[in-house]
Formats: sequence, C-alpha cells, structure tokens
Amino acid sequence: ESTACRIAAGEVIERPVSIVKELVENSLDAGADRINIAITAGGIEAIEVVDNGCGISQEDTPLAFQRHATSKIKSAADLDDIKTLGFRGEALPSIAAVARLSIKTRVPEKNEGYQMVIKGGQVQQKGPTGCPVGTMISVQDIFFNTPARRKHLKSKSTEGGLITDLVYKLALTRPQAKFAFKHNGREIFRSPGSGKMMDVLASVYDVRTANMMLAVNGHEDGVKLEGFISKPEISRSTRQQITVAVNGRIVRNAAVNMALEEAYRGKLTVGRYPVAVLLIWLPPDKIDVNVHPAKMEIKMENEEQIKSLVTTVTGRALRKTDL
Ligand code: ADP
Ligand code: MG
Repeated sequence: ESTACRIAAGEVIERPVSIVKELVENSLDAGADRINIAITAGGIEAIEVVDNGCGISQEDTPLAFQRHATSKIKSAADLDDIKTLGFRGEALPSIAAVARLSIKTRVPEKNEGYQMVIKGGQVQQKGPTGCPVGTMISVQDIFFNTPARRKHLKSKSTEGGLITDLVYKLALTRPQAKFAFKHNGREIFRSPGSGKMMDVLASVYDVRTANMMLAVNGHEDGVKLEGFISKPEISRSTRQQITVAVNGRIVRNAAVNMALEEAYRGKLTVGRYPVAVLLIWLPPDKIDVNVHPAKMEIKMENEEQIKSLVTTVTGRALRKTDL
C-alpha cells in the first residue's frame, strides 16, 4: 500500500506547487469561496490550505486517504461527464505518502470536527477536534522519505514563484472565490471574491494593466468563451501570463495558444505575448481530462471549432481598438 502510494506520488506530486494545486482544487470542488494559502520557504518547508467548503465527515476522513477513494465519481461512466477538478482519488494519499500531512475538517451538520495526522502513509494521530466548518490541511516534511525527489527541487524562490503563478491563475479563473496567499508570513496576494475577473486582474497586476484589458465574449455551437485579453501596448516576454481554463480547469492547450497568437499577428513584435485570461466552457463529454495525471493537458474533441472561436472573438476585440 505505502509503496504503491509512493510510486503513484511520483506522478502527481512532483514538487511543492503540485501539492498546492491538488489541495486548492479539492477546496474548489468542495464549494469553498474562501481559500487561504500559506507557504514557508517556497513551499519546501510547509504548505497550508484552509477553506470554507463542505468539509469531510468523520467517517469519510480516513477513506479520503485510501488510494482511488474519491467521493466525486461513482462509476466508469461518470468519467465521461466530469464536473469536478478531481476524480482520481490519488492526491491526498499521494501527499500523505511523501510528507507529514495534518487535516482538520468539519461538516456543517456537526459542531465538532475531526483531525488526522499522517506521515509517510502511517496514521500518527486521529480523533475529534474543535475547528470551523471546512477543511484545513497542512503539509510539512515534504519528500522526507524520497530524497531523490527532494534533491530535484529548485531554489526556494523558484519553487515559491511557481506557486505564486499558480495562485494567480487559480484566482483569475475563479473570480467568485476569495483567495489569500502568504509566503513566509507575508501577504503576497489577495483577491476580493467579487465575481468580477476585472477585480482579480487589478489584484494580480495593477489597476493600470487591468484597465488596458479588453473584454472578450462569444459562443458558438455549445462552446462559450469569456475573458480578457490585453491591448497590444501591454505585452510580455513569455506565455506565462496567458491563462486558459476549460470548464474551470487550468490547462495548457497548444491550439488555444496558436489561435491567440494568430489574433495578435502583426500587432506584437516577435517573442512578445499578450496577457490573457480565457475561460472556455463546453459540454463535459466533449473533453477528455483523463490524459495526464496532473491534468494540465486535456484533449478536446472539437479543437478546430474552439480555435476558430478564440481567433474570431479575440480578433474582433482587437480590431475595435484599431479604430
Ligand atoms: P479526488 O479529488 O480525485 O476525489 P483527493 O485525493 O484529492 O481525490 O481527495 C479525496 C477525497 O477527499 C475527495 O474525493 C473529497 O471527498 C475529499 N476531500 C479532499 N479535500 C477536501 C476538501 N478540501 N473539502 C472537502 N472534501 C475534501
Ligand atoms: Mg483532488
């Protein structure tokens, strides 16, 4: 059991940012709209995620740490209709296999919560505890039993930077949720949870940059696109500031990037990229998220259609600024 977990952990939990991603995705799946993230030393020393989601019942908490135990899908058929970010039931057992994980969680129906401490797959502590409704998970001693993985880590500032970029992207794709992010006790970022992407853009960048963004909006044959793209005056030297989410899931998708580059052709010098947030919505059965364990890459059935929608809608917004 523990060995299998450590092997599986290799796929999902590569570095501290993978832990943050899995924990925050669980919070979002739990319906949380307040998510506090705190890391120490680039996430190498400690990671804590606190949410106000639905919590886990006392009976279900130990189950959440068993491999392939997910409350999110019931049968193989559900795999074609995934509405949650998680569905493999791998993240919590994988994290607990390679670190010390402490959880405190409470469901709204109960006036007390439940806590567990698991290190290297071994339960060290469990029992009732006082805590607010929602879930608090803190992770320490990361990769204590996988020295090869620990050696593979980059500097604290690099690992911390990856986490910061991820938190920005998560907040941009969920404007309804109020995110707070601290590094070494210092607040790095906070989003207001107003539901307006423009407000998150102002928090991630600054008000001036946010004001240089153009709203994009469109739909075609059951595919919906919304978001913001920067006026050509604002550009960056990497694609890092392009955030794409499909059905709420942050993805890397070459077709969408190409479509965006097509729309900016001749407007940006070579090697410059726009700032963009594109939220794409399509029927769940049109995508296959089951491609990569970290779920960053997805396959879309109608990629050509999505590409042309992105080009059309972003091109239209950019042409308006030419006038
Ligand atoms: P998955 O997300 O693929 O189901 P995980 O290992 O990430 O698998 O989580 C296991 C289960 O634990 C989830 O299915 C969910 O029921 C529960 N869970 C994990 N994190 C939370 C959370 N923050 N709030 C409520 N339930 C959670
Ligand atoms: Mg999960």
